[in-house]
Amino acid sequence: MQRYDMFIDGESRAPATGQWFPTDNPYLGTPWAEIAQGGPSDIDDAVRAAHRALHTGPWADLTASARGALLRRLGDTIAANARRLAETEVRDNGKIFTEMYGQLRYLPEWFAYYGGLADKVEGSVIPIDKKGYFTYTKKEPVGVVAAITPWNSPLLLLAWKIAPALAAGCTVVVKPSEFTSASTLELVRLFHEAGLPPGVVNVVTGFGKDVGAALVEHPLVRKISFTGSDTTGRHINQAAARDFKQVSLELGGKSPNIVFADADLAAAANGAVSGIFAATGQTCIAGSRLLVQESVHDEVVRRVVDLARTARMGDPMDEHTQVGPVTTPAQYAKVLDYVDIARREGAALALGGKSATRPECGNGWFVEPTIFTGVRNSMRIAQEEVFGPVLAVIPFRDEDEAVSLANDSRYGLGAGVWTSDIGRAFRVSDRIRSGTVWVNTYRAVSPLVPFGGVKESGVGRENGIEAITAYLENKSVWINTGAAAGNPFVMR
Ligand code: ADP
Repeated sequence: MQRYDMFIDGESRAPATGQWFPTDNPYLGTPWAEIAQGGPSDIDDAVRAAHRALHTGPWADLTASARGALLRRLGDTIAANARRLAETEVRDNGKIFTEMYGQLRYLPEWFAYYGGLADKVEGSVIPIDKKGYFTYTKKEPVGVVAAITPWNSPLLLLAWKIAPALAAGCTVVVKPSEFTSASTLELVRLFHEAGLPPGVVNVVTGFGKDVGAALVEHPLVRKISFTGSDTTGRHINQAAARDFKQVSLELGGKSPNIVFADADLAAAANGAVSGIFAATGQTCIAGSRLLVQESVHDEVVRRVVDLARTARMGDPMDEHTQVGPVTTPAQYAKVLDYVDIARREGAALALGGKSATRPECGNGWFVEPTIFTGVRNSMRIAQEEVFGPVLAVIPFRDEDEAVSLANDSRYGLGAGVWTSDIGRAFRVSDRIRSGTVWVNTYRAVSPLVPFGGVKESGVGRENGIEAITAYLENKSVWINTGAAAGNPFVMR
C-alpha cells in the first residue's frame, strides 16, 4: 500500500510517533494508502520552520512582485497535474471525477488572481493633523498561518487559504482532514519542485484532536483559517481567544433554495437537484432546504423527484457517474440517522431514504438521493446540517413567509432564489441573511467573489480582493520631521 509522509521544511518527514494510519476509498470501502500520524512535536517542527521562513531566507527576501510570479508558477504546476491530483481526491473522498477535475482545472485561477494582487497591496500616507510629522501605513504579513481543511474539497478549500496567505507574504502550516490528506501532500511536493522555498508551506497530517489542536494552540501561529464543522469551529475560536490569534471560520449551512411560482420551473428543478445531490450533498453550501411556493409545490416536487430518480450512481471515477458515495462510514451512518429522524418527525418520504444497493454501487457507502416533503421549518431535518443527499421540501405562501422561513436558521451561508420577477430578485436578495445569494443559479464560486457566512456559518470572507487583508496587519509609522521631542511629560 502506498505510504505518505508529512512535508516539513521542504522535505518529506516520517512522523515522530512512528505510526501511519489507513485512508479509505469510499467507493471500494477499503483502505488504499497510509498517512503519517503526526503528533505535537511534528507541529512544533513545522511551525518553527514556517516561522524561520517568514523572517529569514529566500521567502523573506522576495519582493512582492516576485512572490506574485511564484504564485502564478504554482498555478501552472497545478494545471499541469490537474488530472492526477483529481484522481487522488476521488480515490480519497469518493466525490465524482467530473466535479473534482473541474475544481482542479479551475484552481490555478486562485493563484493567478492572488499572484496578481501580491504587488498591489499598498499602504497610505495620512494627511496628519499635527505639525512636524510624516505619517504612513504599511501592510505586513500577519505571521505564521494555520490552514485547517475538511475532506469534501481538500485542494479547492486549501487554495482559498494559501493563495491569499502567500500573496500577503505569510508562511503556512496545513493540517488536512485525516480522511483526505493525500492530495494535499502531493500538491505541496509539486509546489516545492516548482521552486517554493522550504518552510513556506508545511503539511502535518494526523487527527484533529492531536495535531489540529496542537497547531491551534501553538504560540507562534498568529492566524487560523479553518473550514469544517461548526462544532470544531467553536473549539478553535475558543482556543484562539486564549492568546488572541486571528481567525477566519467557514462552517456549516442549511441553505434555502427558494422557488417562487413565477420561476422557470424546469431551471429551478435543475438548480434544486444540483444544489443538494451534486457532491452527494457534501458541501457546506448544499441547498438542503427547498422552499416552494404553494401554488407550484406539487409540480416542483414532481419535477425534482423525477430528476433525482434518474441520477446515475456508481464508480465516482467513471465520467458518467452523477452521484458518488458518502465519504466516511461515520458520515454514512449520520445521513441514515437523519432519514430516521425526519421520518419520526412526520416528514413524508418522496424518494430514497435508504442506502443504495444497486450493483454498480459495490461495497461503497452510498445513500439513495432522498427527498422529504411536508417538512416544517422547526423540524430537525430543516434546522440541522446533514451533509448528505437529503432534501427537505417546505411550502410557503408568499414572499414574506419565504423570507422569514429562509432566515429562521442559525446558519447563513448561501441561498438560492428562483424567480422571473426582477424586483423580487433584488428584494429577496436584500432581505435574506446569508453570505451569498444566487438568483436563478446555485453553487457558483469564483476567486473574484467574496465567500463566507453570517450567524453560525462563520467569521470572515474568503475570495475576492479583501480576503488578502485577513492575512495582513496594518502598521502605522510616525516620522518626526520637526523639532526634537521637548517636555518628556507632555505628549505632542
Ligand atoms: P468535517 O466534518 O468536515 O470533518 P471537522 O470540523 O470535524 O469537519 O474537521 C475539519 C478539520 O478540522 C479536519 O482537518 C479535522 O482534523 C480538524 N479538527 C478536528 N478537531 C479539531 C480540533 N479540536 N482542533 C483543530 N482541528 C481540528
